[in-house]
Parts: sequence; structure tokens; C-alpha cells
Amino acid sequence: MEFDFQTFKVQGIKVNYYFVCKRKLWLYDKGISMENESDAVLEGKLIHENSYPKAKTREIMIDDLLKVDIIEGDYIKDVKKSSKMRRSDTMQIAYYLFYLKQLGVMKKGTINYVRERKIEKIELTEDLENEIKNALLEINKILDSKKPPRREKLPYCKKCAYYLFCYVEELDNET
Ligand code: SF4
Repeated sequence: MEFDFQTFKVQGIKVNYYFVCKRKLWLYDKGISMENESDAVLEGKLIHENSYPKAKTREIMIDDLLKVDIIEGDYIKDVKKSSKMRRSDTMQIAYYLFYLKQLGVMKKGTINYVRERKIEKIELTEDLENEIKNALLEINKILDSKKPPRREKLPYCKKCAYYLFCYVEELDNET
């Protein structure tokens, strides 16, 4: 069966959050967002602004859904602080490549991990495409749900902008 991309397409950040934490995805979608106040986000913003100073095409918005850091030749390029969230970073870029393919534009991707001074190349394979399609179907179900997915104890919860939101009861019990 043909995948109905127009029905299931979402913002790139939501694909990223799906692979980070499904609860985070739901909270973000409902407008419960503390992300802009976090130091980590500010640091990330500065890294983006100061990387690839010679690049002419930066921060390109596509359909108000994707914000591509840089487009240069055959590549779209994303800049990240570190590779700690490699899986979600990779899937976000794979989604961009998949999205562009739906528009008839074929690109490859790179992620520039500035802290490790490492560049990772990503090409859209059939497996990645299938993972993206499955993720988009799941994202749709999660966002349709009236309740957020249950909290998962993840190694990065303490650094998450929603930490207080998710763990307030436990923190209350400690005091
Ligand atoms: S604190 Fe943990 S469970 Fe809560 S949204 Fe963040 S990553 Fe998910």
C-alpha cells in the first residue's frame, strides 16, 4: 500500500523527539514547552550560528515543518554539539532526506558533531525509509492520544527540559 505522506508529515523536531522520548514528543506537541529557557538550547543555538560561517544557505525553512541548517551542493548539513543523541540526530536527518525525496529533491546528509570534531554521513536507504514511515505512523498515534505516554526512566531524563514535569512526585517525596 502506498504511504500517504501528506497525511503523516510532521515537523522535523517531532521525529527527533520520537526517537528521544515518546512522552517528550507528546508534551511538546501539546505546547508544554520549557525548551527555550534551557542553557543547553541557548548553547546549541550559538553553535549553529557560528558554524560554517561561509555557508550561503543557512536555516532554510521547508513547508514550515523542517529547518535545514545548511544546504550545499548534494548535501544538507546539520550541526550538533555532541554525538550523545546520535540515533535521534540520524533519524531526523534521514527524515529530512525522505521529506525532500517526496518533493522530488535527492540529497545526502551530514551531521557535524562539533565537540568531537566528527562528521557523519547519512544516505537514505530503503531500511531508513521504512523506519521513517513506521515512525510517522506511530507519531500520529501518539499525538492523537489524550494522555501522554508513560514516563520512561531514560539516562538523559535529568537533562530534559521536562524533568520537573515528569518527576515532580518523586522529588516531592524526597523532601
Ligand atoms: S524527563 Fe524523561 S520521561 Fe520525561 S519527557 Fe524527558 S526524557 Fe521523557
